[in-house]
Amino acid sequence: MMFVEWLKEELEHLKNRNLYRKRSVLPEEFIDFSSNDYLGLKDCKKTKEKLCKQIEKLSLGSGASALVSGYTEIQRNLEKTLADFKETEDCIVVGSGYMANTGLLQAVIKENDTVCSDEFNHASIIDGIRLTKAEKIIYRHNDIEDLERKIKKRKNKGQLFIVTDGVFSMEGDIARLKDIVDIAKRHDGVVIVDDAHSTGILGGGRGTLFHYGLKPDDSIIQMGTLSKAVGSYGAFVCGSKTLIEYLVNKMRTAIFTTALSPVQNFISLENLKVLKEEPERREYVLNTSRYITDRLKESGYRVEFKGTPIIPLIVGSEEKALKLRNFLMKRKIFIQAIRPPTVPEGTSRLRITVSYKHSKEDIDLLIETLKEAKPLIFD
Ligand SMILES: *Cc1c(COP(=O)(O)O)cnc(C)c1O
Repeated sequence: MMFVEWLKEELEHLKNRNLYRKRSVLPEEFIDFSSNDYLGLKDCKKTKEKLCKQIEKLSLGSGASALVSGYTEIQRNLEKTLADFKETEDCIVVGSGYMANTGLLQAVIKENDTVCSDEFNHASIIDGIRLTKAEKIIYRHNDIEDLERKIKKRKNKGQLFIVTDGVFSMEGDIARLKDIVDIAKRHDGVVIVDDAHSTGILGGGRGTLFHYGLKPDDSIIQMGTLSKAVGSYGAFVCGSKTLIEYLVNKMRTAIFTTALSPVQNFISLENLKVLKEEPERREYVLNTSRYITDRLKESGYRVEFKGTPIIPLIVGSEEKALKLRNFLMKRKIFIQAIRPPTVPEGTSRLRITVSYKHSKEDIDLLIETLKEAKPLIFD
């Protein structure tokens, strides 16, 4: 078969199963309940004004990888700021969360090691683990007993790693990090927590570890992104001085790639300042998330407030998810339908995310429209 014919057939197959996707530009007038811009910082006025004043002095690109000549004063500042924020000795900033996870896991996990991963961990963690030759253990979602049982049965004799999302992106729930850290301590393991959705939201904005009042130490690695609540782009790994020194030398997604643009790093730094100075942003988001969940619950939806801005509305089939999405679009509300392989078969959903940008009117329109849409789901 010709290559292009094969591609066409695959696309046809996706369409038949309601799994076809396309990218679209969201028109201005839509209310976006799908963005990870929880704190409304991607359009932060303060940062935009400062950027306009500083733009003459900032290079537009970094020009090279960090180890060659692309490392800049502003990236160093950003790394120091993040290390302070996370109470760790040091930090490395890289291009994206996807790169941070794949690069970190590939660099630190060796053939003789064992890596335990929550079944709902983000795709970038799954791909990072695929790049290693270690023994892989997938444990049931947030199931500590299952995790410990499987750790005891592990075959490899090397280092033990436990990797978890801090907040699970499609479930919206928080990892049982205290229990995970306890287990890791009992088995001399290392914990890697992905704070993509916790940064800026949990633990005073500092992440999942702080949410539980845990202290960072040499056996805990905190990864996070600058692309979600921080409203910028890029990602970081925070940990001991030795870990960061090792990553500078070994992390392929930091070595064989151009360093982030100083403009982007400037935006991250300024948005982080706003995030710290305006705690009301995350308070509003969490209160609103609770409010929406309570109202939907009253009207018969099976939803639960998870302590985060993410509310998964699980409808089951891909078809129902698409119907509901399209119904909401007629009212200028946008919530993307999340389908397999992003979520398990039979759990297609609309993933509602709350933002500081949403007004009281936006919120009420969402609730009213979802009430009206109920017959589409419960037929
Ligand atoms: C979004 C996300 C990432 C990837 O971050 P990017 O900066 O978008 O590449 C990694 N982990 C989790 C849990 C995420 O939700």
